Order: sequence, then structure tokens, then C-alpha cells
Amino acid sequence: MRTPIIAGNWKMNTTYDEAMDLVEELVDGLEGRDVEEIDIVLCPPALWLFPAAEYVEDTGLLLGAQNCHATDRGAFTGEISAAMLTDQCSYVIVGHSERRQHFGETDEIVAGKVAAALRHGLRPIVCVGEGLAERDAGATDAVIARQVSAAFAPVEDGHVAECVVAYEPIWAIGSGRAADGVEANRVAGLIRGTLGEQFGAARAAQIRIQYGGSVTDANIAEFIGQPEIDGALVGGASLKAETFIQLCTIAAGKAGA
Ligand code: PEP
Repeated sequence: MRTPIIAGNWKMNTTYDEAMDLVEELVDGLEGRDVEEIDIVLCPPALWLFPAAEYVEDTGLLLGAQNCHATDRGAFTGEISAAMLTDQCSYVIVGHSERRQHFGETDEIVAGKVAAALRHGLRPIVCVGEGLAERDAGATDAVIARQVSAAFAPVEDGHVAECVVAYEPIWAIGSGRAADGVEANRVAGLIRGTLGEQFGAARAAQIRIQYGGSVTDANIAEFIGQPEIDGALVGGASLKAETFIQLCTIAAGKAGA
């Protein structure tokens, strides 16, 4: 049985005050909402992880970073290593399409980050997804299989179940145009199949696969209800406390159903 996981990716948003207000609202709002059956991970900007950690202590809410470097330390100005995140975080997003697109992250770089995360006891949320042109060219399956295989190349069998995969079609991110639930489930199945080829079906069955791309409280049920989908990576809707609380509540209800 896989524990559903909802993660909120705040991206490069919020001032310190806004971030603390949002964490406080989420902590207060989720209390008593019966969401213990799912993992809820907040991924604020790295600067806010320290103060946020105080707010979420003993609440059941978890923290994740939005990125990490593949190396543990060294001359990489401005970067943050997985080793530096371990005190505050239990998760780290790696290979988000915005990192691949704007910061030149290749499949190999993403694989290095996955390895770094696992080396330091962080659970990587490995993002994969096809662009619109790739989808239109019928290349979705090939792109996803390539990204998944590359990202998991350095993963040892004993760490596989610690990893989460987020299937995020690029055209659905921030566009208000979410993928169709059935199609997202098909691609999640493909991801599990690809992992099954590498690690065996039983291992692959332990990996949680999220859908991401314009998920809100209005459509989460369509995704969480799919057999291969175990949660969502949420961008814009994770910045609105009420929406995110409602989204988590619906996901938890479905999980318990
Ligand atoms: C994301 O940033 O990973 C994402 C899915 O964003 P949004 O929910 O805003 O589409």
C-alpha cells in the first residue's frame, strides 16, 4: 500500500512574512482535517526552510527543498548541497522542468542530484515530463522512459522505494490546462513499467508516482482516484492556503475511501 503524497512547490514566491503566514495558515487549517493518511510536503524557497521547520515541528507536515546540487561541498557559488538540507528537509525536488529548461539541467545532472539526495537521506521527488512539441510528435513515451531510466541509473535497489516520481507534462504546468486523468494514469503506468524493467515489478510497485500540472482542489480527485497515481506535485495552488488545505483534504478522503 503506497501512502499518497501531496507536495506544494512554492517556486520563487513569497517574502519572509508571506511565507510564515502561509505556513501558519496551513498548519492551523490542516489541523483536525483528518489528513494523517497522506504525506503533505511543503517546498518553500530554501531561505524559508529554517523558520518554516519551527512551525511544522510536531504537526506531521514535512518539508522539502526545490533543488540541490549533486556535489556535497565546494566552489559552486550560490548552490545548496543535499548535505546542507538534511536537518530541515525530508524531501527534495530534482529535475523540475523549469530547472531543465532555464538552468540547463541534463538527464545526467538530474541523476547526480538523485544520488546526492539519497546519499544524505533525503527522498528525491524526481520530475519528468514531455514538452508540447514532443507530445505532438508522439514522443511522450520515449521522452518519459529516457528521463526515468537516466534519473534512476545511480539508484541502488535498497533506495528505490524512497524515491517519488512526479509526472509533469510541461504544457500543463502553470497553464491552467491539466492533463486528462486517464492519460496521466497511462503515463504513470509507463513510468512504473520502466522502473520495473530496472528493478523488478515488486520494487516498482513501491514507488509513489505523482501527477503535476495545474492541479487544484477542483481536479485533484480526478488524479488521486487513478490506480497508478499516488498524489500530486502542486505549484500555483499550493500558494493559496484555503485551496491547498481543501486539496489535501480531498486527497486524504480518497486515500481513506
Ligand atoms: C509545478 O510547478 O510543479 C507545477 C505543477 O505547477 P502548477 O501546479 O502551477 O501547474
